Amino acid sequence: MSLAASRDIRTLAHFIAGRFVPPVAGTYVEDVAPATGAVIARLPRGDAADVGAAVEAARGAIDHGWRRSSTAERAELCEAIAARIEHRLDELAALESHDTGKPLALARRVDIPRAVANFRFFAGAVRHHATEMHEMQGAINYTLRRPLGVVGLITPWNLPLYLLTWKCAPALAMGNSVVAKPSELTPLTAAALAEIFLEAGAPAGVFNLVHGLGAEAGAALVEHADVAAVSFTGGTATGARVAAAAAPLFKKLSLELGGKNPTLVFADCDFEAAVEGSLLAGFLNQGQVCLCGSRILVERAIHDRFVDALVERVRAMRVGDPADEATCLGALVGLEHRDKVERYLQLARDDGGQVHGGARPDLPPPFDRGAFLQPAVVTGLPHSCRFVQEEIFGPVVSVHPFDDEEEAVTLANDVRYGLSASLWTRDLERAHRVSARLETGMVWVNTWLLRDLRVPFGGAKQSGVGREGGRWSLEFFSEARNVCIQLENKKP
Ligand code: NDP
Repeated sequence: MSLAASRDIRTLAHFIAGRFVPPVAGTYVEDVAPATGAVIARLPRGDAADVGAAVEAARGAIDHGWRRSSTAERAELCEAIAARIEHRLDELAALESHDTGKPLALARRVDIPRAVANFRFFAGAVRHHATEMHEMQGAINYTLRRPLGVVGLITPWNLPLYLLTWKCAPALAMGNSVVAKPSELTPLTAAALAEIFLEAGAPAGVFNLVHGLGAEAGAALVEHADVAAVSFTGGTATGARVAAAAAPLFKKLSLELGGKNPTLVFADCDFEAAVEGSLLAGFLNQGQVCLCGSRILVERAIHDRFVDALVERVRAMRVGDPADEATCLGALVGLEHRDKVERYLQLARDDGGQVHGGARPDLPPPFDRGAFLQPAVVTGLPHSCRFVQEEIFGPVVSVHPFDDEEEAVTLANDVRYGLSASLWTRDLERAHRVSARLETGMVWVNTWLLRDLRVPFGGAKQSGVGREGGRWSLEFFSEARNVCIQLENKKP
């Protein structure tokens, strides 16, 4: 069904102890489709009472057998969930596109297949997971990894199912039970995931879902005494609030936060590949990916040619109906967020920048009420200004010239964030040298967003604390216990 024709307004429920239940307080908030402004669902405005019930159910699941489940059983559950997500791929992609405003083709190609891959990957990872043994003279140590108990998962609106499953799969694979709180802006695929857990016959209480506002349901989850760990992905300011609430309770904490990622383009690069790569890194998902390369640093010898080529391609990007296969950019997540991006464009103008693009597109109904914005390239800005220093999280990039490698590295590192970087060069020695000096958790060379789920994912500086992916996720969602055994009868 096209967005324009959709008239359904669903009422969502929490998913607690294997049942869909209404909120204790009986209050709801509206879920709006960003592409049309239409209300598409009502979701429970969860509070501490709902979170309390979900945590109790999660605790109960552990006590009633999940604690004794085998690795193989948990891996099989993850595989069953993966198969069901795959079976519902088209429907889930439509929900995700509807809820976020992103192009349907993107949800079909990236978001939902990645949710499938997350469950399959961690089913395999936990089956192959081995712990360490440290041998001493006359004694051995081995490491047991034990589940933490109930874990809280808090996820943002930009990649709703992709990021929820990225946390949920390793948490369950390691034997924890889960209480998830998705963004109130994009609850639909999390609700579908709860249905999938029910269909797959998951033990009641192993996966629980509480909808609601971050400051209410999210904060209650972080503050709950029986939640042993919180895995949070979201903005840096919210991450600081979560960390402050969790610290006095000594909870284990994983924080995946914002970014202001540099793309470094050296004059010796493959020019066409670098332009295409910078375009993708700048504007995928309307620039609403934490890894987006929103600061493009270009060696002066090719700067003007690069800007011309980038602006030409950006102007050719089609903005509009997310369901149209020809659409490159759908809607931003909401009108408020578009206002924020537009305020940053105004700041850029005030600071002397030249803004290429960035107007509201003229679209036919019902998309004339949507949160659409033409992508923009900004040149001529000082690197110190707010447009360049702050995460905007929209379809906007700035381009800056540099004279040599030293200046490129200095500019790349000159922000408070440190999530990722990409660099474009044909000089292998330079690629190694620069990669080693960038203050980020991840570096891509001659590519962007090429992901292997085994590798460490996460940020430095104010982009986060800890790593996810492969064994890093399995280790986060478990507690290491060393067992030391003396083999010879010596006095300790
Ligand atoms: P927010 O920080 O606003 O929200 C993230 C989640 O936290 C939401 O579920 C939100 O709920 C919830 N939340 C808000 N306040 C609190 C609180 N006090 N206690 C507990 N939970 C709370 O981020 P956005 O949803 O706006 O997402 C965009 C941000 O996410 C960007 O900064 C982006 O860089 C970052 N991000 C980072 C990634 C990474 O891997 N490093 C990946 C993807 C995004 P609600 O929305 O209902 O208020």
